[in-house]
Amino acid sequence: PSVAEQVWRVTVAPAPGGGAICSFLDITEQELIGQLRRDFVANVSHELRTPLTALLGFIETLQTTAKDDPVARERFLAIMAREAGRMTRLVKDLLSLSRVEAEERQRPAGSVDLAGLLSGTLSALRPVAEAAGVELELLGGAEPLAIRADADQLTQVFHNLVENAVKYGGSGKRVSVRLERVAVDPGLRGPGVMVQVQDRGEGIDAIHLPRLTERFYRVDAHRSRAQGGTGLGLAIVKHIVNRHRGRLRIESEKGKGSTFTVVLPLA
Ligand code: ADP
Repeated sequence: PSVAEQVWRVTVAPAPGGGAICSFLDITEQELIGQLRRDFVANVSHELRTPLTALLGFIETLQTTAKDDPVARERFLAIMAREAGRMTRLVKDLLSLSRVEAEERQRPAGSVDLAGLLSGTLSALRPVAEAAGVELELLGGAEPLAIRADADQLTQVFHNLVENAVKYGGSGKRVSVRLERVAVDPGLRGPGVMVQVQDRGEGIDAIHLPRLTERFYRVDAHRSRAQGGTGLGLAIVKHIVNRHRGRLRIESEKGKGSTFTVVLPLA
């Protein structure tokens, strides 16, 4: 941090035989952690309060003005179900995040066939993609490719990335997932496997890229909420990739689309 951002604790105590002892303690990091924690709690509270306020409002309307109106009742119940769904997804993502954080130092022990895992993830998301008019293609996943990993967590990584590509990059009509071995990845300094999720949608402005994996960071909050997003997907992805000692790279060009690349160490 720059000098202006540093926080020091200074204590002055009388020294034996006169004079004073002055001690300086750099508490910048503690202060930053405290600030991050406070921001996180404020964000979570805000995200929960929004659907709760909507739910309470509709309950009141159903109890009063819309009491005897079956058409309005149906419409309000549908909105309430959507808001309750939003809260459920938020709580689920918060739990995933805290679980991944708690396990971040433990190396995953399972063996996973990445080709099979990707083909399963794409099959699960095909109905969502079809509904959005997007074609999903898997390139290079013909042979099984085993790595040491946590299958559920990696499924979550690729599910989040492909779902985002469909949700935000769907105007490009095609999302490609490419699986490839890399002999030596510069980030890993060794052999790895690379999974690239590429969309041809509207792309992301360069100023947003460094902050995209922060919790609750969204390029367009209104759009994310309308799509049912929690703003935690990429934060979860980043933590899972870190736990697997991998790397996440995000490249994007306005008007051309985005590419999210995950490189994981082989053995
Ligand atoms: P959300 O729940 O909002 O989707 P994420 O953490 O998954 O949260 O993503 C954070 C933000 O990054 C999204 O709100 C969106 O603005 C942007 N984003 C993610 N993936 C893409 C993509 N493929 N194309 C364009 N924008 C994206």
